[in-house]
Amino acid sequence: MDRVGPPGRGSPAAPRLARRPQIRGSRGRGRGADARTGRRRTRAAHRRPGVVPPREGGGALRASQRVPARRGRPHHRPRAHLPGRGQGVPVTATASDRTTEARLRASGPWRNWGRTESSRPTFRASPTSTAEVQALVRLARERGLPLKVVGAGHSFTSIAATDGILVDLDRMQGVRAVDAATGRVTLAAGTRLHQLPELLAPYGLALQNMGDIDRQSIAGATSTGTHGTGGRFGGLATTITGAVIVTGDGSILELDAATNASLLPAVRLGLGALGVLVELTIQCVPAYLLRAVEHPEPFAVIDEFAARVETADHFELYWWPHTDRVMTKTNTRLPLEAGRAPVGPVANWVEERLMSNGALSLMCNIGHVLPAATPAINRFATRVYGDREYVDHSYEVFTAPRNTRFREMEYALPLEAVPAALRELRAMIEDSGWRISFPVEVRAAAADDNWMSTAYGRETGYIAVHRYVRDDPERYFRAAEQIFLAHGGRPHWGKMHYLDHEEFAARYPRFGDFLGVRNRLDPDRVFQNPYLERVLGR
Ligand SMILES: Cc1cc2nc3c(=O)[nH]c(=O)nc-3n(C[C@H](O)[C@H](O)[C@H](O)COP(=O)(O)OP(=O)(O)OC[C@H]3O[C@@H](n4cnc5c(N)ncnc54)[C@H](O)[C@@H]3O)c2cc1C
Repeated sequence: MDRVGPPGRGSPAAPRLARRPQIRGSRGRGRGADARTGRRRTRAAHRRPGVVPPREGGGALRASQRVPARRGRPHHRPRAHLPGRGQGVPVTATASDRTTEARLRASGPWRNWGRTESSRPTFRASPTSTAEVQALVRLARERGLPLKVVGAGHSFTSIAATDGILVDLDRMQGVRAVDAATGRVTLAAGTRLHQLPELLAPYGLALQNMGDIDRQSIAGATSTGTHGTGGRFGGLATTITGAVIVTGDGSILELDAATNASLLPAVRLGLGALGVLVELTIQCVPAYLLRAVEHPEPFAVIDEFAARVETADHFELYWWPHTDRVMTKTNTRLPLEAGRAPVGPVANWVEERLMSNGALSLMCNIGHVLPAATPAINRFATRVYGDREYVDHSYEVFTAPRNTRFREMEYALPLEAVPAALRELRAMIEDSGWRISFPVEVRAAAADDNWMSTAYGRETGYIAVHRYVRDDPERYFRAAEQIFLAHGGRPHWGKMHYLDHEEFAARYPRFGDFLGVRNRLDPDRVFQNPYLERVLGR
């Protein structure tokens, strides 16, 4: 594999003195949600099989004396010891051959894209190297501070939230190595999906499949099981062939088909619970085009869902509640030589910026203040949206901007359960009298073997329900969840749900094995937060 140049460096933003540490969820709080974790375990970490010694940094950690030690969870922060605006706290990790320094800075409040969750991290850090990540993890463990990595903050749950150290890998982005023969590309874990077309173009490669957007980091997207649609294609995490992760004691663990391979099914989709991913190797495919065919069709087409999924490369549909119509999207993979026939710039602007975002936002706002108008608005939408065909680069067809803010719940069901679950959802909405302005999205994925994958061991159909950001989602989502659960559903890890670890244990055959890997890689729960405590237990 050819190693390529180092990722670029930016300069850290000026810090702001944080106020009280807290993690907040504004909507849709479930059983056990936001229960504070209480004291973290202090069990001593020791070397475990499979954990290789650090390649960089390592050895003793000398943390700045200004970093306050924290036992359990204090109710207030010892302000006198905090860095002020413009200052940073140097964290030094030494090894026999080199010294590495990472900087902590005081953090302002953090919130996610969906505005469902917020927190006030004590510190923020933007490391530039694996050694700096190791130094941060060791500091966190030594001082009893939780540490979470955040990608783009696009999860609707508080899975990335912390009141401890919030780490972003925005300065650890780019291609680290490319194996032209196999199409395997090693990426720095902070790389954003929208950077990939340009990064992969020189090698003629592309991602095998993508979801609706490209804002996420590669590590954030894979850690929560982000998926697109296509019965022959697994979620993004299934394409991971290797990883480098900094575990709870600051050690580096390398995984691929030859090394620690038995841990890959856990680490590929690790929920941020196993460590800080610093590199991911992704199996890419030769760059390709997609022919997109988008049509309105009758609701009854849902009965053909499994058949359409089987015959198309990528099939999905949207149902607008209060209507008898669905919008179907069928994408066919084509070689680059087939030639693009893209939507013109004006038509594209009208469809993606004006209709899919501007008009959608307007329609949702009208529906918010005048719910009774929602059915008529939705019927109008089915007449004006998405009746088009075009051919373009895969990433242009798969993804689109999402400028209208919303909340989302998505459940993975056995593929064959999708039509019945959709009919029940429709009946529930009609019986309830609620007015739902956002469409229901229905997709599919191949079965896979990642232990915490929503598609683990079964061909999967996904049903996603949404609510506009100004509409309270809770009653609708809770009612929808009951339907999905009755069909053997598993919730998306990055989207809203109301389950806790007992329900997950019953829905994931390898749940216990995953917890075993977590005990091995993070025995002191450095990477714990209230969400993980809720869904995995202590
Ligand atoms: C508008 C919108 C559209 C979406 N479309 C889709 C879709 O089409 N399909 C789909 O499946 N999902 C979709 N999602 C959900 C989204 O893909 C996931 O929630 C994803 O996790 C977000 O990536 P992120 O980089 O924002 O991660 P974050 O939300 O920031 O973090 C997610 C998790 O990853 C962990 N993490 C991040 N980086 C690392 C690292 N380096 N090492 C270890 N752990 C790490 C975090 O700690 C956290 O646990 C959508 C979300 C939004 C808001």
